[in-house]
Amino acid sequence: MTLLMPDSMATTRFRAYGPRQIDQIADRFGLAPEDAETVRLISRVLPFRVNEYVLSELVDWDRAPDDPMFRMLFPQRGMLHEDDERLLSAAVAGGDRQLIAAAVKEIRGRLNPHPSGQTQLNVPRLDGAEVPGLQHKYRETVLHFPGQGQTCHSYCTYCFRWAQFVGDADLRFAAPGPEGLVRYLGAHPEVHDVLITGGDPLIMSTDRLLRHIEPLLEIPTVRTVRIGTKSVAYWPQRFLTDPDADDLLRLFERIVASGRNLAVMAHFTHPRELGTDRTRRALARIRSTGALIYCQAPLIAHVNDDAPTWSALWQAELAAGAVPYYMFVERDTGPQEYFKVPLATAAELFRAAYRTLPGLARTVRGPVMSATPGKVVVDGVETTPQGRFFQLRMLQARDPALVGRPFRARYSTSAAWLDDLDLAPDAPADIAAAVRGTARPVHREPPAAKPPAAAVALSGHGGYMS
Ligand code: SF4
Repeated sequence: MTLLMPDSMATTRFRAYGPRQIDQIADRFGLAPEDAETVRLISRVLPFRVNEYVLSELVDWDRAPDDPMFRMLFPQRGMLHEDDERLLSAAVAGGDRQLIAAAVKEIRGRLNPHPSGQTQLNVPRLDGAEVPGLQHKYRETVLHFPGQGQTCHSYCTYCFRWAQFVGDADLRFAAPGPEGLVRYLGAHPEVHDVLITGGDPLIMSTDRLLRHIEPLLEIPTVRTVRIGTKSVAYWPQRFLTDPDADDLLRLFERIVASGRNLAVMAHFTHPRELGTDRTRRALARIRSTGALIYCQAPLIAHVNDDAPTWSALWQAELAAGAVPYYMFVERDTGPQEYFKVPLATAAELFRAAYRTLPGLARTVRGPVMSATPGKVVVDGVETTPQGRFFQLRMLQARDPALVGRPFRARYSTSAAWLDDLDLAPDAPADIAAAVRGTARPVHREPPAAKPPAAAVALSGHGGYMS
């Protein structure tokens, strides 16, 4: 059994803790036995992983289990449908391992493990075969999932990529190496932007990360390297005291020196994550390499569903020299029922927080649904003689012809995702077809094989960045 480390070692040496350590965590931080039992039960279905830094510096144990950081790190009652929780409890009480495994599999299958067409529409093909560990949804951007970067320093209970972490190979995206990506980029010079993502690619050693990034620096059509990471919030030691922290910063400098834009896509969900001395120093070190830091997170009930929290978050990001970028809507997967915030509430909350910001922080966009046809932002609500409508806009789209175009849907106080919306009769036909999933599905081909320009508008395709 892995034991929690003494404080002096624990704050500098990374080690992950999971369901097996829940009793030790409960003893040490005063968590009630019934709350520990809940974590043990729900984490059979949803992934659970924490580390010493998040336990000792981010969670407010006096407020657990209601503390927002506790809720985003520890599986809770209500995150599974009550019928599923009953099914799981009964299977666990019975003690038969095969029945427990069958119940877990059945429940996971009902949680929409790959939302927004990730497996059906985003996995690209080359020479007739799928390229493993790659997603291509938007024309200019490809996502690369290095096989060894498919875990995180801690797991977020709301993660839309939860299926990556549950040990089921069928649910997992992973590229064994950079070779497929390099071949794909060779065939697709229109891709200028590569997002290395996961999981968290910075869980990898710098040497391993280098293996995936170095070949990109030889490809002239790659102009931007993005790294999607929550390590600044969950393990800032990655940039400070890890044995290869300095090597990582040298790698960042090398990417910038190659003439490419390096964007660290940092994920901060709550202002407390930016309040530690370690995180502030990590952000300063990243900036010193010439990398730009963009910040994004979902709006989630029980954690950050009020305007003052978002205002404080964006202002803390700006003060740290980072760019507030996206407020996402919680996606239609995993424990969405527990975390979802209706679009009407989200739009009001976004505006209330946005109004408090200085101009330099008004770089942020939201609330944004990263849905099957693309990224849809809720710009506001309008009242007309025909009724109330959401004003919506395609910020990004599989089909480039849809990008930037507005449309409307009937106002609803309960709708929480694009599929819940009833489009207005005046919605443009191509947008309505994309939203309803009736647009002709197409797979991106290398430019030489592209159809003539008139047909391209119908055949756009692309990838989502987290
Ligand atoms: S991929 Fe991102 S959101 Fe998901 S658990 Fe890891 S850090 Fe959290």
